Amino acid sequence: MQLIFIRKVILKSILFFFATTSLPGQTNFSKQIAKGVYFYFGDEVQRKPANCVWIIFKDYVLVIDANYPWGAKEIITEIKKTTDRPIRFVFNTHYHHDHSFGNCVFADSRATIISTEETAREMKTVGQKEWDQRSGYSGGNMEGYKREFPSLVFENKMVFDDGEQRVELIKMGPAHTGGDGVAWLPKEKILITGDLFVNGNPWGNNVGDPDVNYEGWFKVLDTLAGWDPLIVVPGHGNPGNTENLTEQRLYLSDMYEQVHKGIKAGKSKEELVKEIDLSKHPVYGSNKTSIERSIRQMYNILHK
Ligand SMILES: [Zn+2]
Repeated sequence: MQLIFIRKVILKSILFFFATTSLPGQTNFSKQIAKGVYFYFGDEVQRKPANCVWIIFKDYVLVIDANYPWGAKEIITEIKKTTDRPIRFVFNTHYHHDHSFGNCVFADSRATIISTEETAREMKTVGQKEWDQRSGYSGGNMEGYKREFPSLVFENKMVFDDGEQRVELIKMGPAHTGGDGVAWLPKEKILITGDLFVNGNPWGNNVGDPDVNYEGWFKVLDTLAGWDPLIVVPGHGNPGNTENLTEQRLYLSDMYEQVHKGIKAGKSKEELVKEIDLSKHPVYGSNKTSIERSIRQMYNILHK
């Protein structure tokens, strides 16, 4: 059993290595992860934080997540290095600023913005607060940029399939937000999660969304791990695999149980920040900044 598991991990590492290193089309900002599928690495330091993926179809390009406007401009430049086909669709995995403020830049280049119905609704309701403080949220100058809402929405699933490429956009929320959607490439077994999963970035997960549903979130991570993806592109951080999805689930559910128990016992937020121990979890278990931020956010949501 153990041997089979180790073999599986090795096979996945080899496949990932192959997928990320042996294909042409690599630049400083992006690389090809499968035929016609490109990954743009979001840069927290440069304030272009959200990861992006684009898929080249026969007649058009589908982009997953829009970053901030300056990130979107850079992504468009990168896309143009890989194809001359038009960028026709941009999918927002969820409504958050770092995944949707760049919509206007893509719309100006004639792309249609897509999301789940719930994400489009959240963008207009809870997302308004982010837009009102847009320069604060993005850390950059949002002067001259406008809001661009999704104009093509779906309830549960939307499929792009031209016989060569197939991308399924699937609603998974309520979880990290109400409307979370993922992009799934069943042939290549590539999963693009938005912030349902983040991997090693300095801030960890945002667990404080007003529409967060923790138990839904854990179920979603279990479901996604059950699809057994070979490459999981997170909202932030390096691409990972199925094991990383499970690690994230266990980390978040352990935190949730400890915060929940602490609130029931009448403990204060700062007592919980001091007491909660998550050191046994890989990656985020040793990230003090992310743990403290998440415990405070979770306390604020659960202590109502
Ligand atoms: Zn994000």
